[in-house]
Amino acid sequence: MTTGKLIVVSAPSGAGKTTICHRLQQAFPDYQFSISATTRPRRPNEIDGRDYFFFSEQEFDRKVAQNEFVEWEYVHGFRYGTLLAGLQRALDKGHILLLDVDVKGGVSIKNRFPADTVAVFIDPPDLETLKRRLKGRGTDNEEAINKRLSRIPEEVSYKNNYDYVVVNDNLDKAVDEISRILKGA
Ligand code: ADP
Ligand code: 5GP
Repeated sequence: MTTGKLIVVSAPSGAGKTTICHRLQQAFPDYQFSISATTRPRRPNEIDGRDYFFFSEQEFDRKVAQNEFVEWEYVHGFRYGTLLAGLQRALDKGHILLLDVDVKGGVSIKNRFPADTVAVFIDPPDLETLKRRLKGRGTDNEEAINKRLSRIPEEVSYKNNYDYVVVNDNLDKAVDEISRILKGA
């Protein structure tokens, strides 16, 4: 019997998941943020152990072989995974953990910890808005944006597996809606 909670937040790339998760962290300072492992190279503003655990391919392989991941997936060409130890520790200590994972990972976590997971899918208002936001963010070149856009139909097909779907049209409204969901969870 655990007393913690896992809040899974997933969305198509550019829908506003990162922005919303930062706002949720400010609104709920006692929530902890799950730190995933990845083989993606570290970006200049990122810190190993704070943003991700940056693993080499070999390190990642070893953790997979030792069954240390609850789930892992290829996302945009790199591997990303949630380490079981972190989740178990948070649940055992009664913490609330916020997990920013892709749709397949989100569904895997929900299946593994059904009674402890609240899964929220963030929907963009429409495709044009999503494209505009990805371009406006300025972090991806056209090829990377197209790669992200090509994944959207698959990502959206997982929406029905989520407990809640929140449209991120107006940011404040979306954050309020999710906050209400989480207060009731
Ligand atoms: P994700 O993490 O889902 O890929 P981001 O949080 O990086 O998406 O958001 C993509 C871009 O859209 C960012 O530049 C962000 O500032 C902007 N954005 C997020 N939510 C909104 C919103 N409701 N209205 C307008 N712009 C938004
Ligand atoms: P980024 O490279 O932009 O930080 O993240 C890319 C994508 O990887 C995001 O959609 C994010 O949700 C997803 N992601 C991050 N960590 C994990 C994880 O542990 N598991 C899965 N399945 N996806 C993850």
